[in-house]
Amino acid sequence: MTGPEPARTPEVGAAPTGDDDAYRSEAVDDLVARIVAEEVAELRRGFASGAEYALTRGGSAREQMLHRLECASIESHLDRPSRWTEPHRRRLASDPDYRLPLPDLITRQAARDLPGVRSCRVCWPNPTGGEPRPLRRLSARSLGPQHVGHVLARPDGEPIGTIVRWGARTGADLFGIEHDEIEIVTSTGVETVGPDDHVTIWDLPTDEQAIRRKAQLVQRFAGDDRAAG
Ligand SMILES: [Zn+2]
Repeated sequence: MTGPEPARTPEVGAAPTGDDDAYRSEAVDDLVARIVAEEVAELRRGFASGAEYALTRGGSAREQMLHRLECASIESHLDRPSRWTEPHRRRLASDPDYRLPLPDLITRQAARDLPGVRSCRVCWPNPTGGEPRPLRRLSARSLGPQHVGHVLARPDGEPIGTIVRWGARTGADLFGIEHDEIEIVTSTGVETVGPDDHVTIWDLPTDEQAIRRKAQLVQRFAGDDRAAG
């Protein structure tokens, strides 16, 4: 007769204990450095081929997501050295073939040809040019400094102009009755609304943010090889 099942079942994914610090070794450092160099080279090739979009991968095809290359939410995916954190290095120490998902940098045409891939809600990739812009409604009195540079729009999304500044003032209506008003100065003119009225903006990064990010990408992926990574 046998006893109860032994308690020595291997624990998959259990945290290593004791002397298991192989992931700190020089060998792992060298391997990570080599992998990062390969990853950066791959990203640079994509960038050089005229990529405007990045396709990030998760564990399954459903977790794929399309971004504009300058999207803030993929910045960390493109910073390869910082991706190789301790848990990943530990896994690499036990499996030298282990790799982290690398985003595909792809052209607009390639992005258009992707079947049914999800689009990021931050950067609105819109490779076909036909998808409705993400809009945000807010009360005029809650406009803040962060809205400068955003596009002010009609409720249906039709652009009015880029917000330059705004200010509160008191105006009189046709009957001479005074009301608080907010004047929003845009690149195309002035919109006057009540403080409690709702305004609509394009809920997207501003041109200025996108240009700054693009310049960073050029520096990272198109500059001197030795500056990469
Ligand atoms: Zn995005």
